[in-house]
Amino acid sequence: MQVILVTGGAGFIGSNFVHYAHDRGKRIVVFDKLTYAGNADNVASLEGDPNYAFVKGDIADRALLAKVLVEHRVDAIVHFAAESHVDRSIDGPGAFVHTNVVGTFELLEAVRAHLGGLSDAERKRFRFVHVSTDEVFGSLGATGAFHEETRYAPNSPYAASKAASDHLVRAYRETYGVPAITTNCSNNYGPYQFPEKLIPLVTLNALDGKPLPVYGDGSNVRDWLFVEDHCAAILRVLEEGRLGETYCIGGRSEKKNIDVVRTICSALDEMAPRATPYADLITFVRDRPGHDRRYAIDCGKLERELGWAPAHTFERGLRKTVTWYLEHRAWCERVSSGAYKRERLGLGDAG
Ligand code: NAD
Repeated sequence: MQVILVTGGAGFIGSNFVHYAHDRGKRIVVFDKLTYAGNADNVASLEGDPNYAFVKGDIADRALLAKVLVEHRVDAIVHFAAESHVDRSIDGPGAFVHTNVVGTFELLEAVRAHLGGLSDAERKRFRFVHVSTDEVFGSLGATGAFHEETRYAPNSPYAASKAASDHLVRAYRETYGVPAITTNCSNNYGPYQFPEKLIPLVTLNALDGKPLPVYGDGSNVRDWLFVEDHCAAILRVLEEGRLGETYCIGGRSEKKNIDVVRTICSALDEMAPRATPYADLITFVRDRPGHDRRYAIDCGKLERELGWAPAHTFERGLRKTVTWYLEHRAWCERVSSGAYKRERLGLGDAG
């Protein structure tokens, strides 16, 4: 049975991947620092499972990583751990450099040392998948799409720190032969997403009758991928991807932000009707600095080489997502009240 170390496995995409891969017969070791974005609730249903373990730790802690790689006989790593919120990177870039750049470096160093102690067969089996973003490519004009050869042009501290991590992974492959593959994916949405990101934020604000903030005039365009489709792509890359390659992952689903918000409002009008349409709550707010206008991804290489394609249209994925948030109000309340954090710190559930 393949043992996969999932860094950032308590976060949004990481926890979805943990469930996805565990359901498909993988043994999973989550390695997560449990920052504000890490929520142990997301993986709590696996506690006690013989094919699951959780280690609380910082990816910048090379000694702990080295111990975990040996003790759990890890033979693959899927690296999600990151600071991931663009707005936070503008307010405080330091944490982004610590985790995304230094953390990835320490993880690569731990892997490099670990590989040296493996047998030839074990080394041959080992895989490192680095999960990155299309934001490293910067912004697009009205036409065209990012692809594997697109020049890097990051615009936010978040994007720059992810770009740096991509370059480190590439260099460790080229220099030391670390068996790495990088993926660059567009915006994800789905269950377990922290409600500071557009789709859960709008869904939960709407249900609470709060304003629905939209940056600028709402015409910024993003490509959206349902998180389960991203997990399927990552597992495919892990199992069949070519070492040293990069794969772009996307939903072939470009949407203006305002249209995303309107689609959520229409879904809620149907699923959780209220006296006035939810779209009445839409409020335009001042644009964020350096806000990229448009992202789009050409995922043709992944489709051609590995036979992957997204299984969800945006409308279907969005309805599944809104349904999940409606059915998991307790999860949402524990996140918005901060209870998920207090318990972890041993401070109880009160207040
Ligand atoms: P997230 O913020 O929801 O989760 C990040 C996880 O990493 C959290 O569990 C957090 O506790 C953990 N973490 C943070 N710093 C750590 C450290 N120093 N050591 C160990 N764990 C640490 O992020 P996400 O949205 O799930 O994104 C996961 C990865 O996918 C990131 O690398 C991100 O760049 C990439 N990505 C995200 C998207 C998206 O739309 N969300 C799109 C493309 C790529």
